[in-house]
Amino acid sequence: MTKQLPPVDVVLVGFGWTGAIYAEKLTAAGLEVLALERGPWRDTPGDFATTFAQDELRYYWRHGMFQEASQSTVTFRNNSAQTALPMRHWGSFLPGNGVGGSGVHWNGQTYRFLPSDFVARSHNEERYGRLPEDMTVQDYGVTYEELEPHFDYFEKICGICGKAGNLRGETVEGGNPYEGARSDEYPNPPMQMTFSQDRFEAAARDIGLNPFPVPSANMSRAYTNPLGLQLAPCTYCGFCEKHGCGNYSKSSPQTTIIPVLMQRPNFALRTHSEVLKIETEGGGSRTSGVTYIDTSGDTFFQPAEIVVLCAYPLENTRLMLLSEIGEPYDPRTGEGVVGKNYCYQVMSGATVFFDEEFTNGFVGAGALGMVADDYNGDNFDHSGLGFIGGGYIACYTTNARPIESHPVPDGTPGWGAEWKRAVQANYLKTATVGVHGASMAHRSNYLDLDPTYTDSYGRPLLRMTYDFTVNDRRLTEHITPVAEEIARGMGGREVNVSARRGSYDSVPYQTTHNTGGTIMGTDPASSVVNRYGQSWDVPNLFVAGAGLFPQNAGYNPTGTVGALAYWSVDAIINQYLPQPGPLVQA
Ligand SMILES: Cc1cc2nc3c(=O)[nH]c(=O)nc-3n(C[C@H](O)[C@H](O)[C@H](O)COP(=O)(O)OP(=O)(O)OC[C@H]3O[C@@H](n4cnc5c(N)ncnc54)[C@H](O)[C@@H]3O)c2cc1C
Ligand code: SF4
Repeated sequence: MTKQLPPVDVVLVGFGWTGAIYAEKLTAAGLEVLALERGPWRDTPGDFATTFAQDELRYYWRHGMFQEASQSTVTFRNNSAQTALPMRHWGSFLPGNGVGGSGVHWNGQTYRFLPSDFVARSHNEERYGRLPEDMTVQDYGVTYEELEPHFDYFEKICGICGKAGNLRGETVEGGNPYEGARSDEYPNPPMQMTFSQDRFEAAARDIGLNPFPVPSANMSRAYTNPLGLQLAPCTYCGFCEKHGCGNYSKSSPQTTIIPVLMQRPNFALRTHSEVLKIETEGGGSRTSGVTYIDTSGDTFFQPAEIVVLCAYPLENTRLMLLSEIGEPYDPRTGEGVVGKNYCYQVMSGATVFFDEEFTNGFVGAGALGMVADDYNGDNFDHSGLGFIGGGYIACYTTNARPIESHPVPDGTPGWGAEWKRAVQANYLKTATVGVHGASMAHRSNYLDLDPTYTDSYGRPLLRMTYDFTVNDRRLTEHITPVAEEIARGMGGREVNVSARRGSYDSVPYQTTHNTGGTIMGTDPASSVVNRYGQSWDVPNLFVAGAGLFPQNAGYNPTGTVGALAYWSVDAIINQYLPQPGPLVQA
């Protein structure tokens, strides 16, 4: 039997990056907020102590902090003619689990999308003419200029380390000349670069590009954020990605928000509490709260005035489909919206092997890098190229973790004495130049409920239907040779190119940058939520995260995810609470 609990003002489904942002702002506004998190409690002293935070077997290989695929996973296929099969071991992406979500084990590469990314359809059609019929690219309904104060605040909460390239419209030497106008400099200076970044910078400048330091959530110096929380300088230990930081040097919900939140009497957190359904009333016109289950196997109905989905794009989409909120997307007719425009990221790159010089990749950090944006977004003329969008080209030194990192030149045997010799010779002498490409929305890429496979509670799994599109392939074919040219200019012995060819493969890790499914827009016929992240169908339901992106840009998502969360919560406090109801009239 489901137990009924006392009501709260707001229930947050999931307590990762976006959950923490909403919780902090809504409790500060005086609301009683409850976060329901399916995973365990996690904090720095207890869970990421420097004595075991670097346990690569536990965290990288055995996925210590990720969702258990045996409890719930997604099924995958490349196109709707295929039968989707469950991912029984995570590969291409790694959904987080537990307090802090993926914000615990992210790298910290914290970009802002370009102004043109938010108006991708209107901007590109105005410049290049009509997009192909099957490209379901849309405008966000919110502009860069509207989001700018919220980008700025998220960067200050995180203490992002970087160099402005456009300060209030003035170009600043050393930063990204293509970025939208910023109201302020980054709160901290860039990280210390290493040999690889120096070589990359020189080679990129040689071919006329404009490299700048990657905006990093790994601290270049001690920092106190606007909530009074302190971060320590990064030690460049190389265990950011897929690991927690024991040094308080990586911005995460734990280091930047949660300690303040846990002291507020109007905030409560229930861990090991998985939301199963968003409940509705009034013929589906409003949500009454959520039903969740805890580890005892008991189910609870948690009434709330407002529900915010903060459970990462895949689970947010699935919960809306399972709760029958919004019209499911149908790729045959192009109608319906929930599950529409699932997008990802198109990655490629080149590895440079040096003979004499040491790159010492173990001196790294999740966001330590130099990057060039000359081939991103609409920073270059696409006339006659047959694609829109682009990607950044970067040289990161994130790690040389011993289980994960065995760079060997092409043609080396996969095992045995020769492989060992090659690992020994190259382990300290490689650098990579990567392309982080956009993924544009296409009619045939989407999310829905799987007709066959279920989770441990018997509910349909989410089914992902995705492949790289013509646009994606042309984009990567155009930009990867530029990365190769930079790599060749870095002065190594040889360069191996890893091009993105063939169909999308869900097995090798690429990025945890899943986007779409609960997209935002200007019209209920083509989007799930309005420009404030508010459901068109259920006005007291809000959705957070990269599921709002109508298509994915050539950047890591979380800078924009953070800005959208602050923008949305600001609208809840200043517009919705004084006058509850739709914030945009359909
Ligand atoms: C290895 C890795 C590296 C990354 N590096 C970068 C990077 O360098 N730069 C960047 O921009 N982004 C990066 N990301 C992505 C970044 O972590 C995410 O964009 C960000 O955490 C998303 O925030 P979110 O709140 O949407 O989801 P999350 O932070 O993942 O939080 C979602 C939470 O919801 C919980 N949840 C899910 N379903 C339910 C349910 N039904 N009931 C209750 N709780 C639920 C989950 O357990 C989780 O804690 C990386 C991700 C990974 C995994
Ligand atoms: S590299 Fe820096 S930020 Fe990353 S885990 Fe190590 S100390 Fe923390």
